[in-house]
Amino acid sequence: MLADTPEIKRLTVQFKEWQASHHANYVSVANERDALHKQLAEQQSAYCRLNEHNHECEKLLDGASSLLGEIAKSGQLYRECTDKSSITGQRIAAILASVAVFQPETYKPEPADSELDKEGGWQMNPCKQGHLDVGAAGGVAHCYQCDEKIVASTTQEAFELWNTTHASTTSN
Ligand SMILES: [Zn+2]
Repeated sequence: MLADTPEIKRLTVQFKEWQASHHANYVSVANERDALHKQLAEQQSAYCRLNEHNHECEKLLDGASSLLGEIAKSGQLYRECTDKSSITGQRIAAILASVAVFQPETYKPEPADSELDKEGGWQMNPCKQGHLDVGAAGGVAHCYQCDEKIVASTTQEAFELWNTTHASTTSN
Protein backbone atom coordinates (compact mmCIF):
# COMPACT_ATOMS: atom_id res chain seq x y z
CA MET A 1 0.00 0.00 0.00
CA LEU A 2 1.13 3.49 -0.82
CA ALA A 3 -0.06 4.78 2.58
CA ASP A 4 2.45 2.55 4.29
CA THR A 5 5.49 4.16 2.68
CA PRO A 6 7.75 6.04 5.08
CA GLU A 7 7.31 9.24 3.07
CA ILE A 8 3.51 9.13 3.36
CA LYS A 9 3.77 8.35 7.08
CA ARG A 10 6.14 11.27 7.57
CA LEU A 11 3.81 13.63 5.67
CA THR A 12 0.83 12.40 7.66
CA VAL A 13 2.59 13.12 10.95
CA GLN A 14 3.64 16.54 9.71
CA PHE A 15 0.14 17.33 8.55
CA LYS A 16 -1.24 16.39 11.96
CA GLU A 17 1.30 18.67 13.61
CA TRP A 18 0.30 21.55 11.37
CA GLN A 19 -3.31 20.91 12.16
CA ALA A 20 -2.59 20.93 15.86
CA SER A 21 -0.61 24.14 15.65
CA HIS A 22 -3.30 25.81 13.55
CA HIS A 23 -5.85 24.74 16.07
CA ALA A 24 -3.76 26.16 18.93
CA ASN A 25 -3.44 29.45 17.03
CA TYR A 26 -7.14 29.50 16.37
CA VAL A 27 -7.92 28.90 20.04
CA SER A 28 -5.60 31.66 21.22
CA VAL A 29 -7.02 34.12 18.69
CA ALA A 30 -10.54 33.17 19.73
CA ASN A 31 -9.65 33.68 23.40
CA GLU A 32 -8.18 37.07 22.61
CA ARG A 33 -11.30 38.00 20.68
CA ASP A 34 -13.52 36.93 23.60
CA ALA A 35 -11.42 38.97 26.02
CA LEU A 36 -11.72 42.02 23.75
CA HIS A 37 -15.47 41.54 23.48
CA LYS A 38 -15.71 41.40 27.24
CA GLN A 39 -13.57 44.50 27.63
CA LEU A 40 -15.68 46.35 25.10
CA ALA A 41 -18.89 45.36 26.87
CA GLU A 42 -17.45 46.59 30.18
CA GLN A 43 -16.42 49.88 28.63
CA GLN A 44 -19.82 50.31 27.05
CA SER A 45 -21.60 49.70 30.32
CA ALA A 46 -19.23 52.09 32.10
CA TYR A 47 -19.97 54.68 29.42
CA CYS A 48 -23.66 54.04 29.84
CA ARG A 49 -23.44 54.54 33.60
CA LEU A 50 -21.51 57.74 33.07
CA ASN A 51 -24.20 58.98 30.70
CA GLU A 52 -26.94 58.18 33.18
CA HIS A 53 -24.95 59.86 35.89
CA ASN A 54 -24.55 62.98 33.73
CA HIS A 55 -28.22 62.96 32.95
CA GLU A 56 -29.15 62.76 36.61
CA CYS A 57 -26.67 65.49 37.47
CA GLU A 58 -28.24 67.73 34.84
CA LYS A 59 -31.73 67.07 36.14
CA LEU A 60 -30.51 67.79 39.63
CA LEU A 61 -28.92 71.07 38.54
CA ASP A 62 -32.08 72.06 36.67
CA GLY A 63 -34.18 71.32 39.74
CA ALA A 64 -31.84 73.24 41.99
CA SER A 65 -31.68 76.24 39.69
CA SER A 66 -35.44 76.45 39.23
CA LEU A 67 -35.92 76.20 42.99
CA LEU A 68 -33.35 78.96 43.48
CA GLY A 69 -35.21 81.06 40.92
CA GLU A 70 -38.49 80.56 42.75
CA ILE A 71 -36.89 81.36 46.09
CA ALA A 72 -35.31 84.50 44.68
CA LYS A 73 -38.71 85.69 43.42
CA SER A 74 -40.75 84.85 46.46
CA GLY A 75 -40.18 86.17 49.93
CA GLN A 76 -42.54 83.49 51.24
CA LEU A 77 -40.39 80.67 49.78
CA TYR A 78 -37.28 82.36 51.09
CA ARG A 79 -38.70 82.34 54.60
CA GLU A 80 -39.56 78.65 54.20
CA CYS A 81 -35.95 77.72 53.34
CA THR A 82 -34.98 77.04 56.92
CA ASP A 83 -38.29 75.40 57.80
CA LYS A 84 -37.78 71.69 57.18
CA SER A 85 -41.50 70.94 57.43
CA SER A 86 -42.35 73.33 54.58
CA ILE A 87 -42.47 72.23 50.93
CA THR A 88 -39.53 74.49 50.08
CA GLY A 89 -37.55 73.11 53.02
CA GLN A 90 -38.30 69.57 51.85
CA ARG A 91 -37.28 70.37 48.28
CA ILE A 92 -34.01 71.79 49.53
CA ALA A 93 -33.44 68.74 51.71
CA ALA A 94 -34.12 66.46 48.72
CA ILE A 95 -31.62 68.34 46.56
CA LEU A 96 -29.00 68.26 49.29
CA ALA A 97 -29.57 64.53 49.72
CA SER A 98 -29.11 63.94 45.98
CA VAL A 99 -26.02 66.11 45.93
CA ALA A 100 -24.57 63.99 48.74
CA VAL A 101 -25.00 60.90 46.53
CA PHE A 102 -23.11 62.58 43.72
CA GLN A 103 -20.18 63.73 45.77
CA PRO A 104 -17.11 63.10 43.64
CA GLU A 105 -14.53 60.74 45.02
CA THR A 106 -11.70 62.44 46.80
CA TYR A 107 -8.94 63.07 44.32
CA LYS A 108 -5.77 61.32 45.38
CA PRO A 109 -2.86 62.38 43.23
CA GLU A 110 -0.23 59.75 42.59
CA PRO A 111 3.02 60.58 44.34
CA ALA A 112 5.30 61.58 41.48
CA ASP A 113 9.04 61.30 41.99
CA SER A 114 9.76 64.29 39.79
CA GLU A 115 7.33 66.28 41.91
CA LEU A 116 9.25 65.42 45.08
CA ASP A 117 12.56 66.31 43.48
CA LYS A 118 11.25 69.59 42.15
CA GLU A 119 9.53 70.52 45.39
CA GLY A 120 12.34 69.67 47.77
CA GLY A 121 15.41 69.69 45.62
CA TRP A 122 16.67 68.06 48.81
CA GLN A 123 15.89 64.45 48.07
CA MET A 124 18.73 62.76 49.95
CA ASN A 125 19.97 59.24 49.36
CA PRO A 126 20.02 56.89 52.34
CA CYS A 127 23.04 56.85 54.65
CA LYS A 128 25.84 54.26 54.40
CA GLN A 129 23.80 51.96 56.64
CA GLY A 130 20.72 52.40 54.51
CA HIS A 131 18.73 54.63 56.86
CA LEU A 132 16.16 56.79 55.11
CA ASP A 133 15.76 59.27 57.95
CA VAL A 134 18.31 61.71 56.58
CA GLY A 135 18.31 65.47 56.23
CA ALA A 136 20.42 68.55 55.68
CA ALA A 137 20.44 71.77 57.67
CA GLY A 138 22.92 74.36 58.93
CA GLY A 139 25.70 73.17 56.60
CA VAL A 140 25.37 69.60 57.83
CA ALA A 141 23.92 66.66 55.98
CA HIS A 142 23.30 63.83 58.38
CA CYS A 143 21.47 60.67 59.28
CA TYR A 144 19.08 61.06 62.19
CA GLN A 145 19.32 57.37 63.01
CA CYS A 146 23.06 56.64 63.15
CA ASP A 147 24.37 60.21 63.21
CA GLU A 148 26.57 59.79 60.16
CA LYS A 149 27.25 63.32 58.89
CA ILE A 150 28.95 65.45 56.26
CA VAL A 151 29.84 69.00 57.24
CA ALA A 152 30.34 71.66 54.56
CA SER A 153 30.35 75.42 54.32
CA THR A 154 26.75 75.50 53.16
CA THR A 155 23.80 73.19 53.53
CA GLN A 156 23.52 72.96 49.76
CA GLU A 157 27.14 71.83 49.54
CA ALA A 158 26.71 69.30 52.35
CA PHE A 159 23.62 67.98 50.61
CA GLU A 160 25.40 67.65 47.29
CA LEU A 161 28.44 65.98 48.90
CA TRP A 162 26.13 63.55 50.63
CA ASN A 163 24.39 62.53 47.43
CA THR A 164 27.64 62.16 45.46
CA THR A 165 29.05 59.86 48.14
CA HIS A 166 25.86 57.93 48.87
CA ALA A 167 24.28 55.74 46.22
CA SER A 168 20.67 56.31 45.39
CA THR A 169 18.43 53.32 46.08
CA THR A 170 16.36 53.92 42.96
CA SER A 171 19.24 53.89 40.47
CA ASN A 172 20.40 50.45 41.55
ZN1 LIG B 1 22.19 56.11 59.23
